[in-house]
Parts: sequence; structure tokens; C-alpha cells
Amino acid sequence: MKISETEKELSVYESMAARFDVAAGKLQLDEGLKKYLRSPNREIIVHIPVAMDNGQLKVFDGYRVQHSIARGPCKGGLRYSPDVTLDEIRGLAAEMTWKCAVVNIPFGGAKGGVVCDPSQLSMGELERITRRYTAEILDYIGPERDVPAPDMNTNEQTMAWIMDTYSMHVRHTVTASVTGKPLDLGGSQGRREATGRGCMIVADEALKHFGRKRESTRVIVQGFGNVGSQAARLMHEEGYKIIGVADIAGGVFNAHGLDIPALVEYVSENATVKGFPGSENIGAQEILEQDCEMLLPAATESVISSKNAHKIKARILVEGANSPTTPPADDILFDCGVFVIPDILANAGGVTVSYFEWVQDRQGYFWQETVVNERLKSIMVAAFNDVVHYGKKHHVNNRIAAYMLAIDRVAFSLKLRGIYA
Ligand code: NAD
Repeated sequence: MKISETEKELSVYESMAARFDVAAGKLQLDEGLKKYLRSPNREIIVHIPVAMDNGQLKVFDGYRVQHSIARGPCKGGLRYSPDVTLDEIRGLAAEMTWKCAVVNIPFGGAKGGVVCDPSQLSMGELERITRRYTAEILDYIGPERDVPAPDMNTNEQTMAWIMDTYSMHVRHTVTASVTGKPLDLGGSQGRREATGRGCMIVADEALKHFGRKRESTRVIVQGFGNVGSQAARLMHEEGYKIIGVADIAGGVFNAHGLDIPALVEYVSENATVKGFPGSENIGAQEILEQDCEMLLPAATESVISSKNAHKIKARILVEGANSPTTPPADDILFDCGVFVIPDILANAGGVTVSYFEWVQDRQGYFWQETVVNERLKSIMVAAFNDVVHYGKKHHVNNRIAAYMLAIDRVAFSLKLRGIYA
């Protein structure tokens, strides 16, 4: 049965579960195991009291969902947004389990979130929220338990506060307690670019798969934050033609190609791509439907749904963002012959270099950037080929292939470990 026959547009968790059900069904997983793998191990809800700058006490809701520890400690980002919900965090935590398994690194999945609007908070307030959130979940995190990382609206500074709070409680410095830290505090070379670089590596593999060249590949990127800007910059350097870029304020388009280094500079001064000289303005959603060979959504979830999937002209979709495509849209894209590189593969470069950071922190020995980039490439290329071969072998699209491969790996580990009673 096609996912679209059963579903309306779905929440992040429902999307994950719908895909999981199709993949687990094809793997003919035992019903009990299926139920176990579909649900998170643990969901933590905390209410964080924070003294605001104006002297008032405010309480913020925070979540940490740990989906699986079958293959190693949990790993996953922490996001700050007014829109954070437990359902979203639950879905993203499960997707982290599948992502780590697709790239075959020894982690399970987790995700965290705090319901807050960082644009309305001072640095002091953000620091107090972060430290108290860390203290509330302290018993459940750590290098062997669960290792947070940055996600939407959190950054290297947030990770430094978490690392410091954790370290103060355990009375010694534990750099491996988080990843995505500043370089001077045990961060890894290449981490900042890792997700964007990973997107480019799988984009290159897709071109090889179709016998295409970078120079004749026109790319549109939605989202110009960490993932989108780094992917656009690296792809531009390597010869791809970036013809459109959008952020939340709007998009810019130039059929002859945008000057990406100049755009990066423009954004650093204007905080948006909108109005970039030498380009036409275009809507942030409208840009997805423009003529191009490759589309790289790197902004937010559900931007490609049943409403616009049939209007996508790109032949290759590289999902830099988490969950940019809804399950009903998957079916439409597949029927239209779009080659989808699913999020749990395409954006796995970030967690892969996070894994390298955790390894380096535990070794106390840091690698050169070229070593990081070579190791990242070898993992991403292997994962791309694993997914494509799995899809061919089982006659499924890349999304379901990636889920099947991941579920198979996690289920295998669980079977070896057995169920502790
Ligand atoms: P970010 O906050 O640095 O950047 C987000 C960008 O998207 C900004 O340019 C913002 O203006 C734009 N944006 C937001 N909503 C938009 C909309 N509706 N339309 C158009 N543009 C919009 O975030 P990021 O770290 O680059 O993450 C982007 C996506 O990639 C998220 O889905 C995140 O979960 C995922 N992701 C990030 C990493 C990482 O290492 N940062 C790793 C894996 C996945």
C-alpha cells in the first residue's frame, strides 16, 4: 500500500512512523520488535525556571527524547524554538537512530528542544535556560549515555555552556559530553561545514550515478543558514551552478548563476539574501518549483508536500533539512521520477563529524581537517552506495531503502543483545 493512500499530511513523528511501517513491513519484522523499534526508549519533560533580566521568574518547557541505545550512546541535536513540540522531538529522535545506522556509526538517536523564542531573549537569559535545562537532564546525558549537539537556534556557544554545566556537576572537564563545540574547547576541524559537505558528497555520487557533470548542473538551495550556505559555498567552489537561494525572508534567482561568495558577504551585512544585487527576487516557496537539475531544501520541515510535489522540476532532490518532504509527496516525486537522496542519508555529514569529534575528545588527540574530510567522504560514499544497492535489491525508492537498511542494522544489534528482563 502506498503511504499516500493512508495518510493526510502528517506531523514529523507520524511521517517517521508511516515510513517506518512501510520499511519494517518489507523487512517482515516480528510485530513485537516492530513496536519496540517504533517507540522511543525514554521521553524526558522538564519545566525550567529562569530568572529573566527584568527580575521576573519564567518557566520554559523542555524535552529530551532518547529513541534507541541499541548500537551505542544516543546522539542528537537540541533546538530552541517557539514551535517545538514533544511530537516533533519524538519523530526527530527516531530519525537520528536511523541516520546513525545508515552511515553505520555506533550511536543511537535522541533529540532535545526547549520551547522559547531566542530572538526575544538576552544572552544571559539563553545561558540560564541552557544551564538549567542541562542540570534537569543531567542524569540521562554524558559521553556514554546521550551526547547533545547544535540544531535550530543553538550553536557552539550553547554547546560550551552545556559542556561546562555537565563538567561542573561531575567535577572534571568532559569535552566528549557534547559535540559541535568551539575548536578551542575540543571541537573538531570541519564540523561547521560537515553537513553541507556531506550534501555535496552525495550530490556528487548522484551525478556519477546519472553520468552528469557538475558544470551542467543547476542547483537551487532553500535555506541559507549553516547547512544551506555551506553546501552552496562548497558546491559553487566545485563547479556547480547555483541559480537560486532562499531564506525565510525571500529568495533570489539568476539563471546564469549566483556569485555565492558575494552572496555570503551580502548576508553577513544584511542578514538575508533578499535584495542581492544582480538577481531577481522570488518567493521562498516559489523557488522550489523553478527549473533546475538539483534541489537542495536546507531550511525546515514539510516544504514539499502533496500541494507542490508535482510542480518540482529538479531531477535530483538532496534533502539537507530534516523531513523537508511529507510521505504523500514522496509517492508523487517517485512517480515523477525524481531521484531523492533522503534526509537520513543526505544530511548525515553533521552527525558523522560529530562522531569524529566525540572520538577525538575521548582520545585527546585531534585530527587535521584533511583527515576529517577524507574520512567523512569515505563514510558518505559508502552509505550512498549501500542505500542505492538496497533499493535496487528490494525494488523500493531511496527513502524506503534507507529506512530498511537502518532498521535492519538496528534490529540486528537488538537481536544480538537480546531483551533484558
Ligand atoms: P539555520 O537556523 O542555521 O538555518 C536555517 C535557514 O533556513 C535560514 O536561512 C532561515 O532563514 C531559513 N528558513 C527557515 N524557515 C524557512 C522557510 N519557511 N522558507 C525558507 N527559508 C527558511 O539551520 P541549519 O542548522 O542550517 O538547519 C537547517 C535544516 O537542516 C534543519 O532542518 C536542521 O534540522 C537540518 N540539519 C542541520 C544540521 C546541522 O549540522 N546544522 C545537520 C542535519 C540536519
